[in-house]
Amino acid sequence: MKEHFFQASGLAADFAARARLGIYVHVPFCPHICPYCDFVKTARFTKADVDAFFAALPAQLDLLLASVPEHIRVATLYFGGGTPSLFPAARYKPLVEKIRARFEIEEFTVESNPFSNVEKHFKEMFELGVDRITLGAQGLNPLVLNYLGRKHSPEQVVQNILSARAAGIENIQVDLIFGIRPLQQQRNIVSEIEKLVQSGASGVSCYLLTIEESTAFRAEENASDEAVVAEYEYISQTCARLGLAQHETSNFSRTASRHNRLYWYGLPYLGLGTGAHGLLPPTPEHPLGRRYQVGQLQPRSQAGDDALSFREDSERLFEIVWAQEQRTRSDALQEMILTLLRTQSGLPLAWLNAVYPNQVLESLWQDARICRALASGFLERTVTHLRLSPAEKLRGDSWAVHVSSLLHP
Ligand code: SF4
Repeated sequence: MKEHFFQASGLAADFAARARLGIYVHVPFCPHICPYCDFVKTARFTKADVDAFFAALPAQLDLLLASVPEHIRVATLYFGGGTPSLFPAARYKPLVEKIRARFEIEEFTVESNPFSNVEKHFKEMFELGVDRITLGAQGLNPLVLNYLGRKHSPEQVVQNILSARAAGIENIQVDLIFGIRPLQQQRNIVSEIEKLVQSGASGVSCYLLTIEESTAFRAEENASDEAVVAEYEYISQTCARLGLAQHETSNFSRTASRHNRLYWYGLPYLGLGTGAHGLLPPTPEHPLGRRYQVGQLQPRSQAGDDALSFREDSERLFEIVWAQEQRTRSDALQEMILTLLRTQSGLPLAWLNAVYPNQVLESLWQDARICRALASGFLERTVTHLRLSPAEKLRGDSWAVHVSSLLHP
């Protein structure tokens, strides 16, 4: 029905023209477990586990590439985790060379945790082709780092930015966590962002701390809505003043990441490595793509640590687990509403007009909550887009549910 759904959406001119694909590799090893973290990861592993993990990646790639049309020849590459920077570039080289044999890599990102003596590490990563790092700083205030269970110092964060730049990596996005209830009075996130930019960061990604049941933080409390909104406004204003454009709810940067844009626009990407998710490109059998995850994952044995055992459990941990249900047009559209509302420009009106009948769109434009939000400025309807105001972006998920309920009754 909709083999050309992505292209027809009008959102993916780049994708249609150059046929690109995202490749995400989840590296689930960490030196220790941060108490708030809900990602798939383990701090209990041996060298043999790591060997087994890296040895499995090429086979996963081959299996997934069988579903990727031949004409797709451009890829963005992203190593996330976990802590990919635990391992030297040599660990990644065979997989990168295999990917490069098939694709032109147009952006290559590695997540990095701040640590000492990084000069050689960044240099080798640059030689491997890495041109962007996301640095998991989470803060520049020692109280924040201590509360979040991070092991690095503010000075190491700054030193890592300088070292990455000296190695030739100029695109440095720094992750920060905000909304930390016990430290609201003591923290000044504005000065942290200023310091990061002065030190050479090209952007910041600011994530709201949410307390998850499966983590060691489960007894902590989320910050109040008012405090979170106020802090987010400081962040948005500071980034605008410093020349960092907002590309998505959490993302402020001088340059938009090509890889992240694939997620934001609902485009296909491969996920490799235990804990990764993926969306295969459309095929006649799965015209809206096919979702999957890598690894048959069991509930955590103890809060925060998945204690993955890659030798004993290789069958389970390397298995591609396909989504049970065929992805429907309604699923795909609702996912796009969710991710597009988080972007700076919002929902393109041309896209809404292309994919929804007029009478369905009428229920959107006549809805009382939408009309009130448009009148009060929480929502903005420009000539080309329907978008959330900068401050309202934090409530984007709730708006996405509301818009979806009107367009998919
Ligand atoms: S937040 Fe901490 S535990 Fe979680 S993936 Fe990052 S380094 Fe590992």
